[in-house]
This record gives sequence, C-alpha cells and structure tokens, in this order.
Amino acid sequence: MNLKQLPRVNLAHLPTPVEALPRLSRSLNRPEIWVKRDDQTGLAFGGNKTRKLEFLVGAALEEGATRLITTGAVQSNHCRQTAAAAAKYGLHCTLILEGDPPETPQGNLLVDQLIGADHVFCPTEMLDETLQSVMESSRSHGEKPYWIPLGGSNPIGAAGYALAMLEFSQQDLSVDRIFTATSSGGTVAGLLAGAWEVGYRGEIVGIRVGPYQGSDVERVHSLAGEIAFNLGIEPQPSSDQLRILDQYHAAGYGVVTDLEAAAIHTFAQIEGLLLDPVYTGRAAGGMLDQIQRGEIKSGERILFWHTGGTPALFAYPEILKRS
Ligand SMILES: *Cc1c(COP(=O)(O)O)cnc(C)c1O
Repeated sequence: MNLKQLPRVNLAHLPTPVEALPRLSRSLNRPEIWVKRDDQTGLAFGGNKTRKLEFLVGAALEEGATRLITTGAVQSNHCRQTAAAAAKYGLHCTLILEGDPPETPQGNLLVDQLIGADHVFCPTEMLDETLQSVMESSRSHGEKPYWIPLGGSNPIGAAGYALAMLEFSQQDLSVDRIFTATSSGGTVAGLLAGAWEVGYRGEIVGIRVGPYQGSDVERVHSLAGEIAFNLGIEPQPSSDQLRILDQYHAAGYGVVTDLEAAAIHTFAQIEGLLLDPVYTGRAAGGMLDQIQRGEIKSGERILFWHTGGTPALFAYPEILKRS
C-alpha cells in the first residue's frame, strides 16, 4: 500500500478499540460478537466520517480551498463532522441539508449550528441547483470552495476505510464476518479494498439503510477498485466476499421501526453500548435478525463495525416509546 501521494490531516483518535460483547453473545446463544468502536474516532462526537475527512480535508488544503461544501439529511452525521473538521482547519463550511428546518434544532443540527457552519435547507429535487448556486456565490466572494460528495464517499475519502481495515488486521482478532451499516457505500468499499491488501477472506456484510445507489454491489466494487488503484493495492477478482443486505430499509431512510428500536434497547440494556436510530440501529437490527434466523453458525466470530451517529439519538425521543 502506498500512502505517500495522499495528503492527510490528523483528526482521528486511532486505533479505535475492539471490544468483546460477552453478554450480548451469551443472550443470543450463538456467535461470538465483537465491536469495532468507530463511534469513538473523535471529532465532535466521532463516527465513520472522521477517517474519510482526514483525506478529504488534506486534499482540500492542498488545493488551497477556503470553504468546504457538502450535503446530507437534516440529521446528517457527515455534515456535523465536516463542519467540525472545517472549524479545526480554519475553513468556512456550507451544509446543504435535505429537508425542512425543524422547530428546535436537536442532535446533529444543534451541533452544526453551534459550530457555526452556514446551512441551507432544500427539498431533494433542488439539491443540484442549490449546490450550483452555493458554489457560485462562494467563488463570487473570492473564496475557493471544495465540494465533498454525500457521505464523503469518493476514492479520496473512502481510502480512510482501506486504512481502517489495515488497522483492524493489526488488532489480532480474526473474524468470520464483519457487519456494518452502508449508505453512500464508501465505508464498505474501503473495507473491501483494505481486505484485498491484508488478505482478509471473511465476509463483509453491509446492511443497507436506504435506497442510495452508492450501496449497489457493482458501485461498491467499482469504488473499491478506484481506492485500490490510488493506494497501489492489488485488486482481487470480484467474489461473493461482499454482501449487501437489502431487506431492512423498506420503511425508508431515517424511519425508526421496531427493528431499530429493539436493537438500540438491546445493546443499551445488555452492554451499555449506544447505537443510533438511522444507521447502526438498523445495521444491528439486521445483524440480530440474521443471527436469529440461523444464518450465522454458532461458534462463528463476528464483528459489528460501529460507525457512530449517536448524536442523532437526541433527535429521536420517540424510540423510548418502542421496545
Ligand atoms: C454515513 C454513515 C454511515 C454510512 O457510511 P457510508 O460510507 O456512507 O456507506 C453509517 N453509519 C453512520 C453512523 C454514518 O453517519
């Protein structure tokens, strides 16, 4: 792997811990479950975007950018962390948030506002137009804007997850499967490219949290190929090592159903570990469902790669009513 040509800043607290979940494992009476704590990456409450932003901000600074511009849902973790990274490096930041402004800012949006990022709310069909006008207005003020795509999932940002796989391989825990949430696809793509580098042969299971095409298997493979190319990793022939589970997002992105609520309650009450309502709650719910259906053999060792998102809990008080 060759990292020399990729500019990078230091944002993350690494390596993130790997911990056993013995009480959860016992209660399910099947596999041994471990967790990789990427909810603890640092940067304004942490999460998986910290690793991506090390490379994205590195690239922005190298280009002489003065403003980061990105987009996401109103409760976007990616936007919250981009705002924090911009503040830390003295850059301006504009967040284009898809949806309506809530009456009271909570969770991630509260943090965005506290950090002082500029933000614009807009309906989905206006995203492109709004982006164009934000970029133009920034240029007309003499700034140099740097565009970060949804979820930071381009080959630059997602390289952070190839390195994360390298980090995990040095933590001396061999696992049969890795479960994680997938949306814009950069996390699983990076893990896959990293798996090629370190020779991890187990499964990478992405639980899809919404209909974004970034999580399509072909797109993830093609992003993994680009990451591998940039990092000088030998790509492996496409195999069934990557699986994307499509059956858990029918309720819609960010909609909490019994699946997510039950997983959030279980992890909190059995392990004192917090999940979020949008991503990790759904991913953990899917993983528990796979275990309960007998898809995972007893004696297997599986890793839940926690991707963060917990500030969104504070915008979803209704989960207390479900359990
Ligand atoms: C963005 C995000 C994801 C999805 O990661 P992608 O790389 O976009 O697939 C998962 N979990 C959390 C908490 C996130 O914020």
